[in-house]
Amino acid sequence: MIIHSLKNSVLNSYIAQIRDAKIQKDAMRFRKNIERIGEVLAYELSKKLPFSEQEIVTPLGKKNMALIDEKIVLCSILRAGLPLHQGVLNVFDEAENAFISAYRKHHPNNDKEFSIEVEYFASPSLEGKTLILIDPMLATGSSMVAVYQALKKHGIPKKIHVVSVIGSLQGVEYVDKHLPKDTELWISAIDDKLNDKGYIIPGLGDAGDLAFGAKL
Ligand code: URA
Repeated sequence: MIIHSLKNSVLNSYIAQIRDAKIQKDAMRFRKNIERIGEVLAYELSKKLPFSEQEIVTPLGKKNMALIDEKIVLCSILRAGLPLHQGVLNVFDEAENAFISAYRKHHPNNDKEFSIEVEYFASPSLEGKTLILIDPMLATGSSMVAVYQALKKHGIPKKIHVVSVIGSLQGVEYVDKHLPKDTELWISAIDDKLNDKGYIIPGLGDAGDLAFGAKL
């Protein structure tokens, strides 16, 4: 896997704000910052897509331009992925979209053990397209891999990119091992560890709860 973790830029301010225990309490700002991170990562990713020359007719003449020549499908995991999905979709506004629910089902007697359950699944064909898998928190990487396995029945994509906000070293290694070799990861920060509940440390906490409110 090729890992693109970006150099210092204004992106750092957005990441600092979503991590900051005081600022992140403003859910609207949290969602907006995740969306802005999605836009920056998608913009960087766009430079790696295939382009082809196309003629554009203006009211006054013609101009050849290199335009993205690729069918793109964005796939996000509900619900935490929604603001990041929106950011990537703002950039690739003609992309098709897939949504999957994947959640951690904790063992009733052991909070440290959990399996990944995939339930809701809505996806177009992926055959021959560029698939962008979107997950704000690449913690263990197991949700991302479960989603990839579930998507396989919808066709074989030509190329896979993963877009994520914060990953753990363990999560990045796991995804590297289980996704195709030429997958490219676009990630704004990689933290060292996970706690025993599978949260990224220092990370930012629960991205879904911060964006949409605590669940029962
Ligand atoms: N999901 C989150 O929202 N946060 C983490 O740290 C890990 C997974």
